[in-house]
Formats: sequence, C-alpha cells, structure tokens
Amino acid sequence: MKKILVTGGSGFLGSHLCEKLVEQEHDVLCIDNFFTGSKKNISHLIGRNNFELIRHDVTFPLYVEVDEIYNLACPASPIHYQCDPVQTTKTSVHGAINMLGLAKRVKAKILQASTSEVYGDPEIHPQSEVYWGRVNPIGIRSCYDEGKRCAETLFFDYWRQHKIEIKVVRIFNTYGPRMHPNDGRVVSNFIIQALKGNDITIYGNGCQTRSFCYVDDMIEALVSMMNTSSEVIGPINVGNPSEFTMLELAEMIIKLTVSKSRITFHSLPEDDPKQRKPDISLARNDLQWEPKTNLEEGLKKTALRAI
Ligand code: NAD
Ligand code: UDP
Repeated sequence: MKKILVTGGSGFLGSHLCEKLVEQEHDVLCIDNFFTGSKKNISHLIGRNNFELIRHDVTFPLYVEVDEIYNLACPASPIHYQCDPVQTTKTSVHGAINMLGLAKRVKAKILQASTSEVYGDPEIHPQSEVYWGRVNPIGIRSCYDEGKRCAETLFFDYWRQHKIEIKVVRIFNTYGPRMHPNDGRVVSNFIIQALKGNDITIYGNGCQTRSFCYVDDMIEALVSMMNTSSEVIGPINVGNPSEFTMLELAEMIIKLTVSKSRITFHSLPEDDPKQRKPDISLARNDLQWEPKTNLEEGLKKTALRAI
C-alpha cells in the first residue's frame, strides 16, 4: 500500500483516478482548489479511511509525505482555462515547480498529465511523440498549451538535474461520466444538447477531427504508466486512435439519444486544431495498453449518467 497524492483529484479525470487508487487500497490524498472540480465528484470516497481531501492551490508549496504524485491540477476545458489565462499558466508552471520540488524532497515518483495540445495544430498525422508540435505562443489557447509544454520541460530538467523519477503522459481527448455539464467540451455539450432537445452547436464546418478515449481506459493507462520501471519516463501518448469529425460525433449522439435536436453551425474558435489522432505504438509497447471501449459504447455510458 502506497501513499499517493492526486492533484486536481476532484476534477473529472482526478475523481476517477482517486476512486481507482482507493479501490486498490492505497492511501490517497486528494488536493484541489475546486476551480473546475467539485466535492460531489469525490463525495462517495469521503469517509473511507484510505481517502483524504485537502483544499489547496498547487501554485503554493505543499508539505506532505507521499510515495507517488499524479499531477492533474489544471482546468482542461477551453472556456475554463481561458477565463483566467494567467492563473492557467501559473497552475501548470508554478504547480509543476511545487510538485516537482515536493517529489525531490520526499523522493517520490511523479506523473505529469500533459496533453495532445503540446502538438498544437499539427502538420503530422497521426501525432507521435517525436513530433515537436505547432503551437501559437501568443494565442488564446497558449496559456494552456505553452503552460503544459513548459511543465514538460520542467519535468525533464528535474529528471536530468535532480534525478527524480518522472512519468510524462500526453493525454488525448477523454470523456465519460462526471464531465462538468457546463464544461464546454464537445462531448458534454452535444450530449446535454441532445438530451434536452436543444440545437447541437458545431463550431466551424464540423470537418475538424478528434479521437476520443473513454475515461476507464484512460485511468488504466495512467496507473500502468506510474507502475512502469524507472527507465520508462515518456513522453507517451495515451488516447484512443479512432478518429471522428465533429459532424460524425453529433450525428452519433443524436442517434444514440434518439433526439430531435437539429445540427447548427457557429463560428470556429481561434486556433482550433483541425485534426488530432494519437499514434499509440509506444503505449502499446511500453504499457501493453490500448483502449478497449469504442466511441458508441462509451457515449452510451456517458449519456446514461449525464442528467
Ligand atoms: P478538470 O477541469 O475536470 O479537472 C482539473 C482539476 O484541477 C479540477 O478539479 C480543478 O478544480 C483542479 N485545479 C485547477 N487548478 C488548480 C490549482 N491551481 N490547484 C489545485 N487544483 C486545481 O479537467 P480534467 O479533464 O479532469 O483534466 C485533468 C488533467 O488532465 C488536466 O491537467 C488536463 O490538462 C489533463 N488533460 C485532460 C484531457 C481530457 O480530455 N480530459 C486531455 C488532455 C489533458
Ligand atoms: N466543438 C464544437 N461544438 C461545441 C464544443 C466544441 O463543435 O459545442 C468543437 C471544437 O471547436 C473543437 C472540438 O469540438 O474543434 C473539440 O473541442 P473541445 O473543446 O472538446 O476540445 P479541444 O478543442 O481542446 O480538443
């Protein structure tokens, strides 16, 4: 049984991760400032003797004794990370420095939840880890993209300079139960709109693509990565390589929910990547992992618990 810290533990991915680690009987310490997360996401864990919750902002130092750290704290939805962009950069950069400092002091292994956004609007398709990306450094998505890129830099510098044990995973779009209904991300938006019979809001012409991974598959990948030997440090892509246009996603959700919603088209947000699909050869090889849940199956499970 290990003592494990999960930052951003009351968010969408963090709450599923805490649940998994609690089930595995580890001693789990969840910290969160509740910017986008909520106590409701982890209410079923409160009271368990191997789960503890602390309100804390990762931009401030934290003094605890742990064996492993999963650093997930950071808003992930564009509407949320863009509403206070300076705080978003601070969360990624100061948050990484604080958590890496903690890992160094207590000699903990530390995993960074990085993102496919480090590839920006990619010219290489599918994206593999050797691709350096095409990111606008001064646009409205930059606080998130560049913050996460800088966090990766810090992780590798702490590894080279201080020899701490790091694990960097690049998470591609993930969805599932407990996504915030007003999160603004495409899967939650379309499911809520379809269930309410409201217009489905496609941004742009709907030909942009994304590859969606179901949350249970993603949590399995994160835990497998943490448990790899010390030579496996990443960065490693984790996601589902099946690629869909937003139009296909909208049509699939309308069909699955037997909805009368109409598809409507709206302006495309600035710097919206045109395509995204992970090359997961490295994850298949190093983690012996690949996603098991197809999009239709995952959307059904998500819609069932959406409202
Ligand atoms: P989320 O917004 O649901 O969760 C983020 C959590 O971090 C929330 O609970 C929030 O309150 C907390 N948080 C934010 N700033 C904080 C701070 N300064 N101090 C402490 N806590 C803070 O998002 P998510 O989808 O669960 O994403 C979790 C992580 O995974 C993020 O780091 C995100 O960048 C990464 N990621 C997610 C996806 C995805 O598709 N879900 C894709 C790529 C990367
Ligand atoms: N999108 C959309 N309608 C919505 C929300 C998002 O068409 O109501 C599009 C968005 O423009 C993007 C894709 O869906 O092309 C995925 O958006 P999301 O915010 O979920 O994630 P990200 O852009 O960070 O991959």
